[in-house]
Amino acid sequence: EPLVQLRGVGKSFGGTTALAGLDLTVGQGEFVSLVGPSGCGKSTALRLVAGLSQPTRGDIHWAPGVAEGRAGRGRDVAFVFQEPTLLPWSRVWANVYLPLRLRGESRAAARDRVDEALALVGLADFHDAYPRELSGGMKMRVAIARALVTRPRVLLMDEPFAALDEITRTRLNDDLLRLWGEQRWTVLFVTHSVYESVFLSQRIVVMAARPGRIIDEAHVAAPYPRE
Ligand code: ADP
Ligand code: ADP
Repeated sequence: EPLVQLRGVGKSFGGTTALAGLDLTVGQGEFVSLVGPSGCGKSTALRLVAGLSQPTRGDIHWAPGVAEGRAGRGRDVAFVFQEPTLLPWSRVWANVYLPLRLRGESRAAARDRVDEALALVGLADFHDAYPRELSGGMKMRVAIARALVTRPRVLLMDEPFAALDEITRTRLNDDLLRLWGEQRWTVLFVTHSVYESVFLSQRIVVMAARPGRIIDEAHVAAPYPRE
């Protein structure tokens, strides 16, 4: 069933139309990629879905029960950006704990969930490390753990691996696909890599620029069968 539906969602900045009327339905548990050239409005679309900015026209309809937070749909929807944006003076565990701390959860209450999130991304042994001790790929894994620690239903990812070398990116793609199979998130993944979109997603939504809009959609055979 649909988890989120965009109906004629548009966004203008001043006199410029960044997005012209997006119609998009994302099903529960679906992995959907948004691909298209720079400036076609992928990030803008993702930020609208996250509730980080408001559409200038159209509406976004969520399935009942998807929690609304103060900064958008913070509780059920997690966002991963291209830069890992870790706090450099905080250890790995403290970076992952941050979203729970912001919700007022004590360190003791959060400990198991922080450990679980680090284990999911293969960084259990780096619990006490500082970000500067980690490679680029490992930092991105920490950022993913920080998104996962809230146990979101929806993962919004904006070119999360774009700054990484190809080998690291391939590894993280493998890991993300495995996690998606295990965790049954709904994922909306922005990339300018058609390769990545074909590898990861069940459905590819192709966008074009000036003005930003959807021009095509393709279904991809599921890489691994899910019951
Ligand atoms: P993409 O993620 O596909 O590269 P963006 O969503 O970042 O595209 O941008 C789409 C268009 O909207 C671009 O023309 C961009 O310059 C414009 N845009 C995005 N954010 C803003 C903003 N805050 N103010 C003005 N223009 C913006
Ligand atoms: P990148 O993804 O940036 O290439 P890697 O994740 O491959 O970095 O890790 C860089 C180095 O850290 C490698 O030597 C790797 O063996 C080591 N490393 C990465 N993850 C772990 C882990 N979970 N446990 C132990 N060593 C790790």
